[in-house]
Amino acid sequence: MTYQVLARTWRPQRFSELFGQDAVVQTLCNALTSGTFGQAYLFSGLRGVGKTTAARLLAKAVNCADGPTAEPCGECDSCREVAEGSSIDVIEMDAATHTGVDEVRELQELLRFHPTRDRFRVIIVDEVHMLSKSAFNALLKTIEEPPPYILWIFATTDRLKVPATIQSRCQQLDFRPVGSELIRTRLEEIATKDEFTLTPSAAASIAAAAEGSVRDALSLLDQLRAFASDNVDDEAVASVLGVPPMEVTVQLVEALAAGRVADGLALVRDQLANGQDASVLYREIGRALRAALFLAVDPALAPTMSEAHRDLLLGVAESRGADPLSRMLGLWLEQEALVRGSANRELALEVASLRLARWPSVQRVEEWLAGSGPIDSGPGPSSSPSSVGPTKSSQGTPPAPGGASAAEAQENGSSSGVTEEDPSLAEEASSDPGVILATRVLGGEVVAVRSNGEGS
Ligand SMILES: [Zn+2]
Repeated sequence: MTYQVLARTWRPQRFSELFGQDAVVQTLCNALTSGTFGQAYLFSGLRGVGKTTAARLLAKAVNCADGPTAEPCGECDSCREVAEGSSIDVIEMDAATHTGVDEVRELQELLRFHPTRDRFRVIIVDEVHMLSKSAFNALLKTIEEPPPYILWIFATTDRLKVPATIQSRCQQLDFRPVGSELIRTRLEEIATKDEFTLTPSAAASIAAAAEGSVRDALSLLDQLRAFASDNVDDEAVASVLGVPPMEVTVQLVEALAAGRVADGLALVRDQLANGQDASVLYREIGRALRAALFLAVDPALAPTMSEAHRDLLLGVAESRGADPLSRMLGLWLEQEALVRGSANRELALEVASLRLARWPSVQRVEEWLAGSGPIDSGPGPSSSPSSVGPTKSSQGTPPAPGGASAAEAQENGSSSGVTEEDPSLAEEASSDPGVILATRVLGGEVVAVRSNGEGS
């Protein structure tokens, strides 16, 4: 028996099976139930989110022997032929390969005739934004005054490239990227029904790699099944998707969160030297950070993962706490475009990792400046003398080991860098008349931050 790809085997055959697109489904079903559906639709959204599937379902729904109906029977000749792609009255055209005006003219010839058997002649045009200008112009006339037996369904991954004149004559439906949790659940359902092994964390990794596209997720799963003989686990995912082993990602996150710059960079270099893709590694750092953050906030919210990974990340979550992790994740997010878009992604990854690793030190100085005193989580910047801070003048005056008092810092002309724990510090700082340590812009106003912790 030949293997049929999962995307075909599990293609939704009714609207209720089209998951992750509730708004679209509801709009279409309402229109079908009330008989108020339009004659031209424009479906837009990422690749693999269900646009063509929805177009075929709509074709089925309007032409079903019981229809038009939101629940096509799936058994009449029309329903079966649409599902098989052999219906004579449902025409599919890929505008990516048929971009010219001649193809559109040929279509228009067809439109002069009534449907052979069904109620509607449905024309599904995929990637419609690829049509040439003259093809669009030819199309426009047909959409303006379509014969009553014609239903146009256009699909596009780039709506902005579709001329406004076409857009305004269509009912537009936006398909959203499908959430990774939904995709993960779907993959696990398929594995159960198809009786092959798919570990929860492998399913989560595939869902994350698919970036909102159900079709991509299913095709990755096809590849993995072929590679791992129906035993899809983390190891298979690491090999096929080029994802770094979770242990390595967690080690890296541990090093970055603890401010161990050298360890973090060494791990990054090691992975890059092994041929690891820089943006994939960065994405995985983000996933691990997010998981650690959720574990710190409320373990019940944490994404699905194996026990072993959970234990590893729990260590990071407990030693760092939610606030530092959430700020690190914010910083990770700010740098994502940098890593993805850079011509030199390896360098961008190193820079981004360096910043992530320096974050705990910056945060300590900030907290100290804000008067909340040094924090005591982990070894922090002591393993790498802190000279990074919100003030420029911190450079050149590394913190005195064992902790310098605010008064000493003032004498030295140092305005920051005091990060070691010192119980006397908070007291001294609060009795200090308050020397200006830094200025910051808060809500559009320049505020002086004083060593006694007050802003002015
Ligand atoms: Zn039917």
